[in-house]
Formats: sequence, structure tokens, C-alpha cells
Amino acid sequence: MTETDEKAGPPVTLVEPIDMSKLNRDFRREIQSMPDGDELSACFACSTCTAACPIANQWKYKPHQLIRMILLGMREEVLTSREIWECLTCFQCQERCPQNVRVTDILFDCKNLAAEEGHVPENILGLAKELLEKGQLYVVTADWEREDLDLEPEVPGLSTDEFKSILKGTRTGRLVGGDQ
Ligand code: SF4
Ligand code: SF4
Repeated sequence: MTETDEKAGPPVTLVEPIDMSKLNRDFRREIQSMPDGDELSACFACSTCTAACPIANQWKYKPHQLIRMILLGMREEVLTSREIWECLTCFQCQERCPQNVRVTDILFDCKNLAAEEGHVPENILGLAKELLEKGQLYVVTADWEREDLDLEPEVPGLSTDEFKSILKGTRTGRLVGGDQ
């Protein structure tokens, strides 16, 4: 193969080109209509949010790209992305955005939309079930350990019944079947 033949191949891109025919132009307005979406259009893609994000280097789509994807109308890609669920909600992106784009809160809005449409990762559903059934995300000391440690069978003073009953009436409760 000559040097000319090698240069004639397709251009190398890090991500697939966007299929413009699949864009959902209403997605931008959908997010803007939410309480956190006012400043969305002010984003000028400076990437400060990504520079501040402690987990962005693990993500295919960085925070500034997610915001851009919302503006473009890449609804399906954003709502099915793992990134919106892996956000640490540390608010560093939002605090540093020079345009006051509420990046973290917008990712919350995306999670809510994704959940309504059934795009919730299994591990997140598992955590929600744990919360609903036990009233806490992290068991203080597991049942099997309590006897070995000569502890009382139940954590003294820990009552989660009211919390569980309130949670069953929420969207999270309905999502994991807690209202049945
Ligand atoms: S910091 Fe703000 S303006 Fe800059 S890319 Fe992120 S969201 Fe857009
Ligand atoms: S809130 Fe989420 S997106 Fe923003 S900096 Fe933290 S981890 Fe990154």
C-alpha cells in the first residue's frame, strides 16, 4: 500500500458523527421548561464544567458535551447514558459555570425523565429497593454479624417504618413496585 492509499481512508473520529435526522428539537425546550433549565441556552461550550468534574475522565460524554447534546436534541443518547446516573452530584460543575448553567440540576432533570421512561440502571433500582424495604441504604451491622458481636437483634432506636411508608407513596416507590 502506497502512502497515498493510506491517506485515502475514512477520517478517524473519536465518536460517531451525529445522525442529524434523529435529533429531537423539542428536547432543549423540554429541559428549559424545567425550573433548572433557564440558563441552558447561555452555554458557550467553554468546558469549565468538565475541567471541574472529578469523574469526567471516566466518561464517554463529558459534562459540557452532555449540555451540548441537550441543546442539539440528542434526547435518546442523553436519557440512556450511564453518565447521568454516575454523576456524583458534587455541584463543582454548576458552581464554576461562568454562564450560570445549572449543570448538576439539569442532570437531575434528565434522570427524572429517564426514570419516567424506564431507563434506570439495575444497580440504581437495587439501591432504591433496598431503601424501600429496609428504610436505609446501608445496613449499620448486618443481621448475621449482630449475634456474633453480641449485639441486640435490632439497632436500638432505629425505626424506619414511617420513612418506608412515606417512600412507598413517592415516584421512587412506584418505580420499584413499593405501592403493591
Ligand atoms: S461551564 Fe457552563 S458555559 Fe461552560 S461548557 Fe459547561 S455549562 Fe457550558
Ligand atoms: S455534579 Fe456531576 S457532572 Fe458536575 S462536577 Fe460533579 S460529578 Fe461532574
